[in-house]
Amino acid sequence: NRLVEAAADGEDQAVEAALRPKDLEEFIGQERVREQLDLVLRAARARGATADHVLLSGGPGLGKTTLSMIIAAEMGAPIRITSGPAIQHAGDLAAILSSLTEGEVLFLDEIHRMSRPAEEMLYMAMEDFRVDVIVGKGPGATAIPLELPPFTLVGATTRAGLLPPPLRDRFGFTGHMEFYGPAELERVIHRSAGLLDVRIETEGAAEIAGRSRGTPRIANRLLRRVRDYAQVKTDGLITREVAAAALQVYEVDARGLDRLDRAVLTALLKLFGGGPVGLSTLAVAVGEERETVEEVAEPFLVREGLLARTPRGRVATPAAWDHLGLTPPNGAGP
Ligand code: ADP
Repeated sequence: NRLVEAAADGEDQAVEAALRPKDLEEFIGQERVREQLDLVLRAARARGATADHVLLSGGPGLGKTTLSMIIAAEMGAPIRITSGPAIQHAGDLAAILSSLTEGEVLFLDEIHRMSRPAEEMLYMAMEDFRVDVIVGKGPGATAIPLELPPFTLVGATTRAGLLPPPLRDRFGFTGHMEFYGPAELERVIHRSAGLLDVRIETEGAAEIAGRSRGTPRIANRLLRRVRDYAQVKTDGLITREVAAAALQVYEVDARGLDRLDRAVLTALLKLFGGGPVGLSTLAVAVGEERETVEEVAEPFLVREGLLARTPRGRVATPAAWDHLGLTPPNGAGP
């Protein structure tokens, strides 16, 4: 398990419940989404109506589940949480939909991974609050219409573009979640430190924020590991020095790169002069699967502007040479 993985692991799930902001006011950053959502929810409340369906797009760990819970809390409604991969048959979805109460929020994580038949059932449920339950098989099968109470679907997806347009169009509002800036992550860390009873200095929080890859879940996880280090090695107070030393032990560098990211970058620079080099060749040099390099390491390296994918192969940018403290050949570069 990577310390800088954005998806939740078991420990995250156990701890995160305690760290989730409970209302929009408490939710840090994402100003645009927050402001837009605030209007949607206020208007619905004023009308005494159920809120429109909401689609939240953005990478893991950016706060989609948290926002869905906030939507329910702001509407004074209960929430049901499930995910696309958990709904394999239309019947699974029918069972959930038919047990919703009026105004309930249904959070459907990874909505793009739902099965086709379930997706089609969802269209009708979202639009008309009705599903057709098919009873029987073959020529004798009959569709029994079932009325549903009005509910609010909150769908989450890594990219809104992955959704078929008919599904996308049925959401009244789409919020695009962005990666968080260092100042926002610092606030997340201070807030979590308060809740976890951890003493932290401003510079300590800044040091962790800089290594958190723009993602609150990673910030919270790094904070917990730094807290462990501070408890064992010092008096428990997280200063800049303590945070940096702890994260060096866990091999998360100043920009949030871990061992795998650095291995890929180091091979690209030292063995291939910065590229271009083919993905397979690079993967062999690092001793990893092609998919691991492409799907686990590269997205963040590309996002950070350290590596570029070109038609001729992978190429390091001047920032990559700079970050690893190496000089590009021929004196070219930064
Ligand atoms: P997602 O559903 O997008 O994967 P979560 O909503 O589960 O992300 O958030 C992951 C963790 O990060 C939670 O513990 C949550 O408390 C924290 N978090 C996410 N966004 C924020 C935010 N804007 N302010 C404070 N904490 C946040």
